[in-house]
Amino acid sequence: MISLNEMKKALQEIRSSIHLTPILTSSQLDKQCGMNVFLKAEHLQKTGSFKIRGATNAVKQAFAKGARFVTAASSGNHGQAVAYVANQLGIPAVIVVPEDANRVKIAAIKAYGAEVEYCGLTSADRIPRAKQCAQENNGVYIPPYDYPAIIAGQGTVGLEILEQVTNIDVIVVPVGGGGLIGGILCAIKNIKPEIKVIGVEPETANDTFLSLQNGKITAISGTSTIADGLRTSQPGDLTFPILKEHLDELVLVTEVEIKKACQFLLERTKQLVEPSGATALAAVMSGKAGKKNDKVVVILSGGNIDLQQISSIIEN
Ligand SMILES: *Cc1c(COP(=O)(O)O)cnc(C)c1O
Repeated sequence: MISLNEMKKALQEIRSSIHLTPILTSSQLDKQCGMNVFLKAEHLQKTGSFKIRGATNAVKQAFAKGARFVTAASSGNHGQAVAYVANQLGIPAVIVVPEDANRVKIAAIKAYGAEVEYCGLTSADRIPRAKQCAQENNGVYIPPYDYPAIIAGQGTVGLEILEQVTNIDVIVVPVGGGGLIGGILCAIKNIKPEIKVIGVEPETANDTFLSLQNGKITAISGTSTIADGLRTSQPGDLTFPILKEHLDELVLVTEVEIKKACQFLLERTKQLVEPSGATALAAVMSGKAGKKNDKVVVILSGGNIDLQQISSIIEN
């Protein structure tokens, strides 16, 4: 568990570089779910996802220790976040991406000023290359979730929620590698342990669900869920023990439920949220998380979506 002190330090460190994202509400949503739903709008965060929180905390810490070069292995939101922060600090970054990486995402990373290096197709190819590249340049490799400074940074979402919403019953969080929910658990279970924290995975990316069931880290062999930010094959060595000890519940949602949540957000609230970012809301809308009259905070974790992808989300 990351200490409360460390989380507060992280919030202090990153606050001036990130947005205090709003809490959105929708009476239509409340009516439909029979609950009081509060949406924490991290899709409106800088770089389009909460990943900027952990990245800012981790890169700033490395910088303070003298690092002047960083790498990451991600074509997604983490890669964009590390690229952005390095650029803000005026240091070079190399982001290692798969050879089949989406061109829109590559363009975003390059637009933030980082260099892109292609390597293999899997994270087993990319991570060693990103570590090696950091070493060659006397720099630091920044992992996406299994790293104390990242978990502390992501956990600042939890601290903010406690400042923005009172008398919360439940917080619902999407789960990939577990950095976001791990950080939120460290914040919430330290300050208000009575608040229930529920994690959500797509049915086909149920590695954390299986790991909790088995009591040990369990990998899955691959998934093609539309929620591409949640496709990690297993929870982390640091994140899993936090979840194992503190998570109240983990529920699974279907691809159709995720798409319906995206559609609702777009149509009713005018919010463009990526599938990973709408997964927690999918659990609430399908009645799998929260109960009648609960005050529920749902994390909308990101909004980076390729415009070509929209048609596959809104089709039925
Ligand atoms: C990375 C990511 C997640 C999952 O976060 P973890 O820390 O890996 O559990 C959820 N939603 C979005 C939009 C993401 O980019």
